[in-house]
Amino acid sequence: MQCAESERTFDKYAEIAQDLSLAEVRRWKSEHPGAKAIGYFPVYAPMEIIQACGMLPVGLNGAGDRLDIQYADARFGSFICSIVKTTLEMAMTGHLEPLDGLLFSTICDSARNLCYVLKRNFPHMYLDFLHLPHNPGSPAAVEFLRGEYARLQQQLEELGGCSATPEGLRHAIALYNQNRALLRQLYALRAAAPHLLRTWELYTLMRAGNFVPVETHNQWLREALEELPARTGKPRDSIRVVIEGSFCEQPPLDLIKLMEEAGCYVVDDDFILGRRWFTEDVPLDGEPLTALAESYLNRAVYSSVRHDFRNPRHKALVEKTRRLNGQAVILLIAKFCEPAYFDYVLFKRELEAAGIPHLLLEFEEKAFTFERLRSEVETFVESLLFD
Ligand code: SF4
Repeated sequence: MQCAESERTFDKYAEIAQDLSLAEVRRWKSEHPGAKAIGYFPVYAPMEIIQACGMLPVGLNGAGDRLDIQYADARFGSFICSIVKTTLEMAMTGHLEPLDGLLFSTICDSARNLCYVLKRNFPHMYLDFLHLPHNPGSPAAVEFLRGEYARLQQQLEELGGCSATPEGLRHAIALYNQNRALLRQLYALRAAAPHLLRTWELYTLMRAGNFVPVETHNQWLREALEELPARTGKPRDSIRVVIEGSFCEQPPLDLIKLMEEAGCYVVDDDFILGRRWFTEDVPLDGEPLTALAESYLNRAVYSSVRHDFRNPRHKALVEKTRRLNGQAVILLIAKFCEPAYFDYVLFKRELEAAGIPHLLLEFEEKAFTFERLRSEVETFVESLLFD
């Protein structure tokens, strides 16, 4: 792939990722008359179950700075994160019209409230709330979560007038296993050769997958993996950083670009974390919903919205940073994000004990000027480069 052509490809993904009209979802629905599309709020959703019901899972990541808030401010206080407000605003202004339902889960009080505010404002829309287990060590956790998945499946089957068979579920799991494996390969490629794959490119490629069938996304990921090693590019003087804290509301694209321009090689991040939720393939043998539930409990990433006292996330962050030869951690946290700020205290203490430098940056998805953040990142990078 020539460099200019490659740039255009990633620009196309950026357009899809930021398209508030959900044109790709509309296109899919026009090609599949009568089929449903189900939106899911971050962080994690069992996309496999939606897919097995013949529906299109659509990941929602807010509206960034592309929508003025007119209605949401009257329904949420000023101390609520941006993604909650812009998602509500998208609904109130008809931007979510191509979706036939919305799925939420137990990530925080704000997301829970958003689900029920939407329910009140759209009483005829299918809205569901998935209760994810908070005590993964409990012997009842697998059965509990399997029950939640079965309940969701039944609701979707009623909505779509369809039936998800075990074979259909296994097929969907296999497709998403491929998707996660391909993303893992791209993340590994970036960690090994960050000058060949910029973070904004990986991010838009991943985020564009929220709006297209997984088969299409798998094809895009395969093409990227084939073409990227042939790129030419010289390594720059940059520090290797891990980004942590942007698992739900997403930083503006220009802020992600700015980090690299200011001298960071991002070797790992938690952007759009739900697409990479499982660290290994979900097993294809056995009962599919049980396999999904066991994977959620035993083969998943650490996250500030997923409690797992068996695998403390502050220790996991240090371990990951060391494993990837990270020189520093940037805690990139959405304004008013309670789960991220609760964990900040633990992360800070553990990073300091491990001697890993860190920088706290706060963002809002709707921000569009970043001069202060640029100078903070540049100062941080220089302090490490010329230490
Ligand atoms: S950004 Fe944080 S506070 Fe807001 S909905 Fe997401 S997890 Fe909750």
